[in-house]
Amino acid sequence: MKFALRRKSLIRNSHYIAQSIGAKHPDTRALEVKHLLWDSRQLSTSEGALFFAIRGQNHDGHAFIAELYRKGVRLFVVEHDPQIAYADALYLKVDNSLKALQRLGAKIRQDSKAAHYAVTGSNGKTITKEWLWRLLEGPHKVFRNPKSYNSQIGVPISLWEMEDDTDIAISEAGVSQPGEMEALADILQPIGGIFTNIGSAHGENFPDLPAKVLEKLKLFKGSEFIIYPFDDLQLREVLSAEAAALKAELRPWSFQKREDCAYFEILNRKTDYCRFNFHWEGQVAEFEIPFSDDASLENVGNALYFSLSLGHDKDHLRNCLLQLAPVEMRLQMKKGREQSLIIDDAYNSDLESLRIALHFLDEHGRDRQKILVISDLLQSSFKGEALYAHVRDIVQRYDLEQIYAIGPQLKQFGLGDLRVTYYDSTEAFIQEIHHLDWRDKAVLLKGSRPFEFERIDRRLSLKHHETVLEVYLDRLVHNLNYYRSRLQEGQKLMVMVKAFAYGSGSEEVARVLQFHGVDYLAVAYADEGVALRKAGVYMPIMVLNTETEALFEMIEYNLEPEVYSLLRLKEVAAIASQINKELKIHLKLETGMHRLGFEATDVEEMIEILKANPNLKVVSAFSHLAASDDPQERDFTLGQIRTLSEVSNKIEDSLGYTFLRHIANTGAIEDYPEAYFDMVRLGIGLYGVASHPEEQKKLRLVSELKATVSQVKRVKAGDTVGYGRTWVAPNDTRIAVVSIGYADGFPRSLSNGKGQVLIRGVLYSVVGRVCMDMIMVEVKDAPVTEGDEVLIFGLDLPIQKMAAAMGTIPYEVLTGISSRVKRLYFMS
Ligand SMILES: *Cc1c(COP(=O)(O)O)cnc(C)c1O
Repeated sequence: MKFALRRKSLIRNSHYIAQSIGAKHPDTRALEVKHLLWDSRQLSTSEGALFFAIRGQNHDGHAFIAELYRKGVRLFVVEHDPQIAYADALYLKVDNSLKALQRLGAKIRQDSKAAHYAVTGSNGKTITKEWLWRLLEGPHKVFRNPKSYNSQIGVPISLWEMEDDTDIAISEAGVSQPGEMEALADILQPIGGIFTNIGSAHGENFPDLPAKVLEKLKLFKGSEFIIYPFDDLQLREVLSAEAAALKAELRPWSFQKREDCAYFEILNRKTDYCRFNFHWEGQVAEFEIPFSDDASLENVGNALYFSLSLGHDKDHLRNCLLQLAPVEMRLQMKKGREQSLIIDDAYNSDLESLRIALHFLDEHGRDRQKILVISDLLQSSFKGEALYAHVRDIVQRYDLEQIYAIGPQLKQFGLGDLRVTYYDSTEAFIQEIHHLDWRDKAVLLKGSRPFEFERIDRRLSLKHHETVLEVYLDRLVHNLNYYRSRLQEGQKLMVMVKAFAYGSGSEEVARVLQFHGVDYLAVAYADEGVALRKAGVYMPIMVLNTETEALFEMIEYNLEPEVYSLLRLKEVAAIASQINKELKIHLKLETGMHRLGFEATDVEEMIEILKANPNLKVVSAFSHLAASDDPQERDFTLGQIRTLSEVSNKIEDSLGYTFLRHIANTGAIEDYPEAYFDMVRLGIGLYGVASHPEEQKKLRLVSELKATVSQVKRVKAGDTVGYGRTWVAPNDTRIAVVSIGYADGFPRSLSNGKGQVLIRGVLYSVVGRVCMDMIMVEVKDAPVTEGDEVLIFGLDLPIQKMAAAMGTIPYEVLTGISSRVKRLYFMS
């Protein structure tokens, strides 16, 4: 069978690796290497795993060797001899493990027969790379690195996954510091590529834009050509100035008609459609795409010109462009009819995305019965029986109650002996949809675009008013990783998921945190903890406010109470002796906040009670900072930190065992490394809000609140708008009615000019009073129409701005979004 040949045929064993990285192989064994590891948390199977012990700023991979050995890993790349040299383990010793990994990447690239290209720039790298893959896959076998694998470690790791018969490889290269691109260029040695654009993107440490361009340009030092947007003035200036020194030919394109470069000629542009002629190198061809926003058009320009200038088939490209999805996201989760959970992934339809989506279904579907609705896969390099053999293989690994398979190919090749019902078309399935059982199920919709699974989605999803909070779980993971990188080895991370995870949805957020190995969760009330347990969250959970009545329930659900007074301590002590079981508790100490907490004068008696009740096991002692985000209160904050340290030392000495200590919330993680102790308690920062502008640049706002324009109407000069007639139109104008009001969390204090929203990239102010379910904004002559999306806050409209207009802080905005606002989850 054809697919059997599509395997990695290179002999990837320990000798190949040793030779590639320049290490001496200690003996004659040749151990097979199946996958590479650099982060001990990622271990799934130990068989054939090779661990690179990499030393980072606040992390040393060597510390995990013993743990990985216990889990079965036997192959290690190390910089020094391990503390315990296990006899059956193999150590390849190098000067620098990261450089060794990069040498391995470079070797794989050199050994491969594929044409290697690269994409860099500030924005749009990932989507441009994905689109290139969509445009070229089929006629070619294309490899691309996954989104999060564009860094010093990610690039070589992902090359390892490239299969031998790949003929085009496209790698995304990202840098965050000067000096990094050189290393990526040496690995990838691209023969050409795309410089998407240059922007003042966040979190990059370059003195100015030209310096950033020059650093990124190093990627193409040996390349033959560079595609880039001519209209990006700053990029163009640096590239033109460098042209003479560059080996590569510059291939710009523009949105303006030009003699000297390729260009777009827009023929018809609507909100979600654009038809254009593309002119290049004396040729012209017409194309259409199902969207038309500026950012997407720029990405299309880059990807299309790249493909055309390499001579790829116009007709094939035309077909593919029609099927592109305009956004980077690919997976959406929401509540459906009859208490079901709907996961919709109609963006990609290849094997890898099927695997990812099934994993997501498994993780979030938990105890529910799981249903897969799948269409023929149209984007895989495998075809026919070989393709569906893979599909069977993947699908069989998951515990699926039922599969609905739609399309002629699935019917022809079949999914084996699973519980499958076959349908010829989406239409045929929709005919049946109301007779099928959806109650409490977790449903994954995995359809290729031509199958229009959005029609199924519409029937299964709940009807809702058109106001949604979009929660981007991948951004949450980004923020999580950022805070993690701040911690030292061994320091733990507790995440606050109280108040519905700051409005984002506790269960969904908690499951992601659990998957990513966070150490602790904290909730405000026992109920919140019980809900998490019922949703399949098994990690440790601390409860901040412990009501006496809830104690038994907390014990039943293995929730750990905060104890903050002698009275409470006596209560839990009584219960612990009554049930005669060890009970984990967290001691909250008063250090200056003057909210809950043991006073200094309570400590002696607290210790006596603890000693008399060995069933009470102190897991941690902690306190809360009153002003960690205020530099003027630095002395006060340091005082609180000192007090925690002193009092907890005293308790520890008296009890004779150690426990965790913690005091740092987001503000302190930013500013007070001395406050980290054994664990930090991350709150608002996880959701993408920081108090410092510098810190803010490194985070991504996790949620975006969106409404829609319900109606647009004309009003005459002198007409009034809304309750109380507080706004009088100064002249004839147009008003848009927007589907959000104070019952959704858009407070009445934003009436009459205080609140602003973004429609089609333009800011508009609220006129008149905010109603319960609606607001009105003046749009004058702007091309705003019914159904337009309205951004309340999000990436393009900072939540801080709305908070300031309300006279409050982002915490209150986030937690004030009412439960009737539907939450939609995305994962890209
Ligand atoms: C809410 C809370 C936090 C998190 O605070 P952020 O400022 O959101 O990081 C930490 N500790 C306690 C006790 C809290 O109540």
